[in-house]
Amino acid sequence: MVGTQLQRARDGELTSAMERVAERENCDAEFVRQQVAEGQAVIPTNHAHESLDPMIIGREFSTKVNANIGNSETTSGLEAELRKLHTAVHYGADTVMDLSTGENLDETREANIDYSPVPVGTVPIYEAVKHVDDPADITHDLLLDVIEKQAKQGVDYMTIHAGVLMEHLPLTDGRKTGIVSRGGSILAQWIEENGMQNPLYTEFEEICEIFAAHDVTFSLGDGLRPGCLADASDDAQFAELETLGELTRTAWEHGVQVMVEGPGHVPMDQIAENVERQQDVCGGAPFYVLGPLVTDIAPGYDHITSAIGATEAARAGAAMLCYVTPKEHLGLPDEADVRDGLAAYRIAAHAADVANDLPGARDWDDALSEARYEFDWQRQFDLALDAERAQSYHDQTLPGDNYKEARFCSMCGVEFCSMRIDQDARDSNGEMAAIDGDTDLDASPAAEVNVPPVGTHDTSRVPDEIEISGVTFTPEESHADD
Ligand code: SF4
Repeated sequence: MVGTQLQRARDGELTSAMERVAERENCDAEFVRQQVAEGQAVIPTNHAHESLDPMIIGREFSTKVNANIGNSETTSGLEAELRKLHTAVHYGADTVMDLSTGENLDETREANIDYSPVPVGTVPIYEAVKHVDDPADITHDLLLDVIEKQAKQGVDYMTIHAGVLMEHLPLTDGRKTGIVSRGGSILAQWIEENGMQNPLYTEFEEICEIFAAHDVTFSLGDGLRPGCLADASDDAQFAELETLGELTRTAWEHGVQVMVEGPGHVPMDQIAENVERQQDVCGGAPFYVLGPLVTDIAPGYDHITSAIGATEAARAGAAMLCYVTPKEHLGLPDEADVRDGLAAYRIAAHAADVANDLPGARDWDDALSEARYEFDWQRQFDLALDAERAQSYHDQTLPGDNYKEARFCSMCGVEFCSMRIDQDARDSNGEMAAIDGDTDLDASPAAEVNVPPVGTHDTSRVPDEIEISGVTFTPEESHADD
């Protein structure tokens, strides 16, 4: 048996995946091995996923972004799905989750795995539901069969909502939006109708054995995550988190890699404590958060509401951010939504990496700023997070090749381009030499220009009477009713 990355790391082996990850992260392969061995990072690499370029998820490494793709019962075919995969990878997704719930699930999943250079994740309970008339009819064997089949197909990580326990369900009573996780709601219904414990929990060790055989990484689902600010950080959420901590340790005992999923909708001031609590309860296993959205008021713009929360979460130690598109809560995202969602999340991830002082993260910003100051437009486009959009926006007003070296753009125009004015004001050494340390500022022209106004404003130029629309009044009268 080949063994999982976790088992091999514990045995002191430097796998080719670890070497590749070290190259991509610009760090030492031995450090990668240690992080994986201690469960602080995961390298999702199903043995059967041949097209994969290995990557790592952990708080000591660059923040990663996941893009959800997949069809639904009402829309999207195989070709459209593969285009979405291509768009997601093209715009920088580090992993993709195939959340298909429509037709041709196996065909779609296998195609995604065949063509994807990034890890592919799934939520197997979605497929299990498709095999029965009523979710309550799902059997333990059906669940295990679906999970094993997907593991054999090459799925790199699976969301398993094993933390939704029978005893947690009453804690969701009185919530404003109940249980909003698809997997969580299906399992809650199953538990209620069968009067039995969550089968993903009772069969967890069986699932561990399947995952160990294929090196599938757990993404322990947060089926009771809050669906609105009012439900954030409640008893149901934290009771499930305690169970996820217990399951994390069980998976580690089986040599299986683990990351843990997190909320959802969380006010900004609660995000850091949510991350710290997960890290504490789950022994530092990588935290994979959905957003979180920091306000509920902006459907149509939830890539923004959630990217704000995602930045804060990554600042506090979240390792991977699940993107949210502008269509969240409203409809299935199309290619344009995938692009917008990914841009928002790559900005969030990078902003956090810069703020967290990840070695080398700021180099990108500095290179782009230099190109901008040098009016090297083509280099600025090439360095942009979304190069195509940057160039197309510039070229909307100044399309000619001659404008690719111009010392202005249409935003301020040729006369008011502040960077051009700034450069013209400097000498050949790039310095503002007119005023130096020896300049007598009281005697210099700058002293007159910079004299601040003292006392009340000079009102001598204000006319005594003002006429507006044929009505004449004095300024004093206009303030009389204030
Ligand atoms: S015109 Fe304004 S926005 Fe454009 S390059 Fe100059 S300073 Fe920047």
